[in-house]
Amino acid sequence: MTDTERPDAGARDTAPGDHANHSHTRTDACAPAASARTVAEQLAIVLASVAPLPPVRVELDAARGLVLAEDVLTVTDTPPFDNSAMDGYAVIRSDLLSASPQNPITLPVVADLAAGTAENPRLVPGQVARIMTGAPIPDGANAVVPIEDTDQGIERVAIVRAPGAAAHVRRAGEDAHAGDRVLRAGSVLWPTRVAAAASAGTSSVLVHPAPRVAVISTGSELVTPGSPTRRGQIPDSNSFLLSAAVAEAGGIAVRIGAVPDDDDVLRALLDELAGSVDVIVLSGGVSVGAYDVVKAVLKPLGTVDFGPVKMQPGKPQGFGRWPATEQASGPLIFALPGNPVSAYVSFEVFVRPALQRLLGQPILNRRTVTATVVDGWRSPPGRAQYMPVIVTHRTDGTENGTLTEARPASRGGSGSHLVAGLAQASGLAIVPEDATHIRGGDLITVMLTS
Ligand code: AMP
Ligand code: MG
Repeated sequence: MTDTERPDAGARDTAPGDHANHSHTRTDACAPAASARTVAEQLAIVLASVAPLPPVRVELDAARGLVLAEDVLTVTDTPPFDNSAMDGYAVIRSDLLSASPQNPITLPVVADLAAGTAENPRLVPGQVARIMTGAPIPDGANAVVPIEDTDQGIERVAIVRAPGAAAHVRRAGEDAHAGDRVLRAGSVLWPTRVAAAASAGTSSVLVHPAPRVAVISTGSELVTPGSPTRRGQIPDSNSFLLSAAVAEAGGIAVRIGAVPDDDDVLRALLDELAGSVDVIVLSGGVSVGAYDVVKAVLKPLGTVDFGPVKMQPGKPQGFGRWPATEQASGPLIFALPGNPVSAYVSFEVFVRPALQRLLGQPILNRRTVTATVVDGWRSPPGRAQYMPVIVTHRTDGTENGTLTEARPASRGGSGSHLVAGLAQASGLAIVPEDATHIRGGDLITVMLTS
């Protein structure tokens, strides 16, 4: 039941957004098993069964990072009234055209207008009002003289510079007019967009909600991290890995932890979770070992497929749904291999894009860069390889700059149990399925994961 997946068996393909590649040794790879799918084929199957979750209305406080399912229009003009852009004095410009340091003009101050005031003293020629940033420009005034161009007088003020036309006046509707669209459906609500909705006078927005994702590790060898281990036991790291990855992708992780390799226990747990989550991510127990509990429980359902994928690591991949009931469709199920590197690569390549689509995100794939390989490695023919790499940038002495380099994160190469090395990786180098030798100096596509 191991899934150590040394780089010695077969295929290639690309993740979301074609990661075409360059300059590798090519071999006549032995034909992969007819039933095995490429990464692209598997991803297409996954994405074909996933659509953005039905929209819900949420308060702005809960909207950050979610994707709008409606246009947001301004309720009023923004700003809603003419107001001052400076602390200073609201003036009638024609009173001050000859003001200069040599010829200060002194005028009476008839009002004091703080931000938030509703006062509107009508100025007549020869009068000014003290005004603070954001306060409404009083009727009659048509410019603001900043405090720096005055003697800061309270009863009367001496002004030493003539203001320009409409100086320091922010016009009503300058930013947006009532009814203007300030945000478009499909926009990701990053902080400045949450602010735009708030300034538009909106308190709640229609969004695609974050999917709830249960994360379960399987394996009778697994114990909660920090508890004592006897021979044969190891800490469960996958439920932490995958829950953190779910949260980072924008989902709501429900970390269940580890369950033993016991069909009845797992079946009961899945049954219980089915009504309360959108997705279930399992790890372990999907190979051909004697106690591969996930396969044993899910395969007979007929709704979860375990077709192998031409990738390394991550060859065994379970994907499907828990059976629907009359009330609801069953949650999506991803059954990932147990080795931590395999589980992580599988998450990045299949689960994360699916979560992005459930969220309604416009972009499903990670950003990629082309990097120069520093220390080479080998890759199995006929399988796309995802190699955890450390990505660094250094100045290359040329005019435009920096050289992006990638080196394997573990000395042991891509061994799928090497979780400590994985922690140093900031990306996954994507080796096409027909490449077998990656050499120093080769260019390679790297999917950036942090
Ligand atoms: P399996 O896919 O269940 O055959 O597991 C493959 C390998 O991954 C075995 O060495 C397991 O002990 C290890 N493994 C499985 N699940 C976890 C986990 N949650 N945390 C750490 N290692 C795991
Ligand atoms: Mg296991």
